[in-house]
Amino acid sequence: ERRWPGYDAPAMSSVGGKVPLGLRRKRLRVVVTGGAGFVGSHLVDRLMERGDSVIVVDNFFTGRKENVMHHFGNPNFELIRHDVVEPLLLEVDQIYHLACPASPVHYKFNPVKTIISFHKTNVVGTLNMLGLAKRIGARFLLTSTSEVYGDPLQHPQSETYWGNVNPIGVRSCYDEGKRTAETLTMDYHRGAQVEVRQVRIARIFNTYGPRMCIDDGRVVSNFVAQALRKEALTVYGDGKQTRSFQFVSDLVEGLMKLMEGEHVGPFNLGNPGEFTMLELAQVVQETIDPNARIEFRPNTEDDPHKRKPDISRAKEFLGWEPKVALRKGLPLMISDFRKRIFGDHAAGAD
Ligand code: NAD
Ligand code: UDP
Ligand code: UDP
Repeated sequence: ERRWPGYDAPAMSSVGGKVPLGLRRKRLRVVVTGGAGFVGSHLVDRLMERGDSVIVVDNFFTGRKENVMHHFGNPNFELIRHDVVEPLLLEVDQIYHLACPASPVHYKFNPVKTIISFHKTNVVGTLNMLGLAKRIGARFLLTSTSEVYGDPLQHPQSETYWGNVNPIGVRSCYDEGKRTAETLTMDYHRGAQVEVRQVRIARIFNTYGPRMCIDDGRVVSNFVAQALRKEALTVYGDGKQTRSFQFVSDLVEGLMKLMEGEHVGPFNLGNPGEFTMLELAQVVQETIDPNARIEFRPNTEDDPHKRKPDISRAKEFLGWEPKVALRKGLPLMISDFRKRIFGDHAAGAD
């Protein structure tokens, strides 16, 4: 088996590092920060299904109780309202650290407060969760982002690329916040604190699916909500910029494989299928409403021109690759949005 150059952690048998997913094993105690959010709640579902004991830590900044409510009453589930910027004492085996005010619309809503909370969550919050992992010897997984590549000069982006990030731009709080979080994670990994050798870093590319915030301003949620509400699809700029869209179940599978595996990473987790925003608008039209209009709007500053993951590392070292194509995943998200926008009676309309 090939090893990840320089960044390998020793296997930690106490957390079942080598046990394949799905096999019977010791029940793990797992914390998911940001577990009431979009990605976190799907991860929680899978962990609960596997029989783990799950603690969700969330301050509900962008997350919702509804996303995890179906586990209330299950003795293996616990929900704690807590801001990771404050220290936290728990005893667990694994920490999935997802907490982050992730959606761009909040920049506009209360920019200063949001940006400061980005920094605090990414820096102080990540430090606290690493401190927690160190004290209890837990394995720690950071959900970083493709934004660490900035407006990339390399295409597709591989993990060895250092990125092209504007340190003083309007979206720098996100890029730089996550870059700092990665740095902290690797510092703890390399540092004298041997207890926290067990770190993992995922660089997540654009992900969509049920439970996404409806009005968070991201492109897939915008287009789907707009088409359902019979509004025009808002394409920013000339619509020729590209993104690669991953369905959430593929991401969750990748995160769990990364946590259980023996490699620190970072690993790109994304779907290499690349679309321009105009192509995405067309797919949404085909899927929801062929007559949906398209409206062009000025683009935001520093918008990356293209983005597509090189996932050869994840394929080779984690045995992972996405399975759900955009045209297959989109309808699953649409039926969830339909219910949330129009109420349960709309469920049969698909
Ligand atoms: P989300 O907004 O749905 O989830 C984030 C969760 O973190 C929310 O429930 C929010 O309430 C919580 N949170 C925020 N600040 C917190 C704090 N200080 N203390 C406790 N909880 C806090 O977003 P998501 O899409 O599910 O993203 C999950 C993670 O994945 C984030 O770290 C995000 O940066 C990363 N990511 C997501 C995408 C994507 O396309 N969805 C892409 C790249 C990276
Ligand atoms: N921390 C935490 N829970 C713990 C252990 C630590 O929240 O169980 C926080 C702690 O408050 C500190 C951060 O994690 O702010 C970093 O902890 P570490 O022990 O690495 O650093 P130190 O406390 O020595 O500065
Ligand atoms: N975008 C768009 N219309 C929208 C929202 C976003 O054309 O209503 C574009 C945006 O300019 C960017 C791309 O879609 O080029 C992806 O934006 P998103 O905020 O979803 O993700 P990110 O930029 O963080 O990858």
